[in-house]
Amino acid sequence: MERKVAWTTYTDEDLAKLECIAGKYAKFLDNGKTERECVREAVKLAEEKGYRCLKCAIEKGEKLNPGDCVYVNWMGKAIMMFKLGKQPIEKGINIVGAHIDSPRMDLKQNPLYEDTGLAYLDTHYYGGIKKYQWVTIPLALHGVVAKKDGTLVNVVIGEDPADPVVGISDLLIHLSADQLGKKGSVVIEGEELNVIIGGKPLKDEEKDPVKANMLGILKEKYGIEEEDFLSAEIEVVPAGPTRDFGLDRSMILGYGHDDRVCAYAQINALLSIYEIPEKTICCILADKEEIGSVGATGMTGKYFENAVAELINLTDDYCDLKLRRALTASRMLSCDVSAGYDPNFAGVFERKNSAYLGRGVCFNKYTGSRGKGGSNDANAEYLGNLRKLMDDAGVNFQTAELGKVDQGGGGTIAYICAVYGMEVIDSGVAVLSMHAPWEIISKADLYEAVKAYRAFMLNA
Ligand code: MN
Ligand code: MN
Repeated sequence: MERKVAWTTYTDEDLAKLECIAGKYAKFLDNGKTERECVREAVKLAEEKGYRCLKCAIEKGEKLNPGDCVYVNWMGKAIMMFKLGKQPIEKGINIVGAHIDSPRMDLKQNPLYEDTGLAYLDTHYYGGIKKYQWVTIPLALHGVVAKKDGTLVNVVIGEDPADPVVGISDLLIHLSADQLGKKGSVVIEGEELNVIIGGKPLKDEEKDPVKANMLGILKEKYGIEEEDFLSAEIEVVPAGPTRDFGLDRSMILGYGHDDRVCAYAQINALLSIYEIPEKTICCILADKEEIGSVGATGMTGKYFENAVAELINLTDDYCDLKLRRALTASRMLSCDVSAGYDPNFAGVFERKNSAYLGRGVCFNKYTGSRGKGGSNDANAEYLGNLRKLMDDAGVNFQTAELGKVDQGGGGTIAYICAVYGMEVIDSGVAVLSMHAPWEIISKADLYEAVKAYRAFMLNA
């Protein structure tokens, strides 16, 4: 039952393709450090391949035909791309879905303050993080400021090599006797995640001169007033580019592999399909998975269902029954990362049912915790069908659960789409140091994910 190491199966041609995909992925990751940036990047890549916005087609009253490619940019934070198939949508859609939000720290609405001659930005962390990992590393600020006049200012500070970076200080070891005796979860606490952004006072300013100086810089560079923070979404993320990892360059060190590696594999797979598919293909990149898929841009929002309704309306005579049939007849890969087996922490894994770096795309029949609680337990029949599909396409795959029974667990977007009665299974790339500022994946697993998603889109 041991699965093959994907690397041992590769020809020179495979290795060349693998490096090409890895290079493009690194660029995607560097340009997409927030969900908004990922959407912009996805729109750019899709438009280069002739995708157009669904809203434009609706407004012009156009009809859509097999082979047509459209996307829905949902509030700039989630996106769906569709390639219409030969069969009516009522016959079901082959769906791949990933999420493009990643753990990070968000600026509070009133973030800026000065203390003992240093200017700080106060944050509220987003998603599950080990807070102690986010101190003493270079951080960047990415996001948008929505001004009262309706304009949106884009902010990226800390990525250009000429840019300064910001960061959070930690206590020196010499005074850490008490700190090091604490539980890991409180070594650094949420309210201590305060980002240092400056230390030079404005001349002749008496009250908070460093803060005043920072406001001057923000005004000059971005035209922002302090009150504009009230309507801003600025994310504090690790600064710097994605890097090859390992002397053999077999891995990638990057911020936000969870879940942008699956998101990119989906995009790459979809945009490499030139023929008209039998069934309509949909690629969903959702927001807010890390905090429960809530809100208007999370997967529990109705945007996917609404988009399918619009598509039926543009290709057919719309009726509610056709929409329900389309959703029920659909098949989905919920594409999200898997916990990579880590020999340093062998105690939390069960070796036979773990995902290993380099053994290909990973299928998780179920996730969940404490007796599979909260899990989407995929049907055996569906898995049987996928095994054939993967073997026929020469995809290296493995299967896993998220750690030992009763050790923990996690959720994905699988259960949300399963509500419609469609077949859904989790599948993705194994990650080391998941949710840390810098996560590690194997290039082979990215390559196999692209192959797997492409085969699924065309043949499920
Ligand atoms: Mn994830
Ligand atoms: Mn996650």
